[in-house]
Amino acid sequence: EASTTFTVLDPGTMPEIFAGRRTADRDGCFLYGRHFNPTVYTLGRELAALEATESGYCCASGIAAVAAAVLQLCDTGDHIVASRAIYGGSHALFAELFPAKTAIRTTFVPITDLAAVEAAFTPRTKVLFTETLSNPTLEVADLAALAAIAHRHGAALVVDNTFCPVMITPALHGADVVVHSLTKFVNGASDLIAGAVLGSAAFVGQLMDLHTGTLMLLGPTMDARSAFEVSMRLPHLPLRIAE
Ligand SMILES: *Cc1c(COP(=O)(O)O)cnc(C)c1O
Repeated sequence: EASTTFTVLDPGTMPEIFAGRRTADRDGCFLYGRHFNPTVYTLGRELAALEATESGYCCASGIAAVAAAVLQLCDTGDHIVASRAIYGGSHALFAELFPAKTAIRTTFVPITDLAAVEAAFTPRTKVLFTETLSNPTLEVADLAALAAIAHRHGAALVVDNTFCPVMITPALHGADVVVHSLTKFVNGASDLIAGAVLGSAAFVGQLMDLHTGTLMLLGPTMDARSAFEVSMRLPHLPLRIAE
């Protein structure tokens, strides 16, 4: 559905969509292409099914997925505990851009040292962030143990599962939010950049909120054509991963 706008047959429906009383989910109502697009929405549902989450939506890159998910969960002055072995762009985002522009600070830890992970928490910690299998050092995170630590401190476990689609399903081990760079294994042909955020319907609703949603208002919109292409490659993802 390569369309930026959508027909609404009855003008009275418009305010209902703006107020969130009619949704893509329940009513098949679409507003504008930077909000939900039907094809991008369908890919989000397919990826949510793959990752065993209630809901999900896609975006223009993996780094947009990381940034949007974490910014949605943290306010100014909040704190992140993150694995020290993460993708370079995510590391730069947490180590440099967030403290400079948002006063969100990150403590980096060796993610396999659970005592060090727990000791890094502060009363302001909102997110524990790790990759399932780190890029590029292939450090393995114990997701169930990390989820227990995060939840003990009232924080969310956000897992970047870019390296392990099909192999490991972080939501089944306690992850609250799963992010992907679809650019890598999921798309598989090194010909487009794309990302996704997967989690509860309530969290996806926050990300897409017209007034406070990071995916909505920072504008990392996935093009419907990219969504179509990635969606066509999902059926052979298990075969490619096995190979
Ligand atoms: C590539 C990658 C990213 C960033 O994704 P882009 O699609 O390049 O923005 C994030 N996390 C991991 C683990 C990656 O490999």
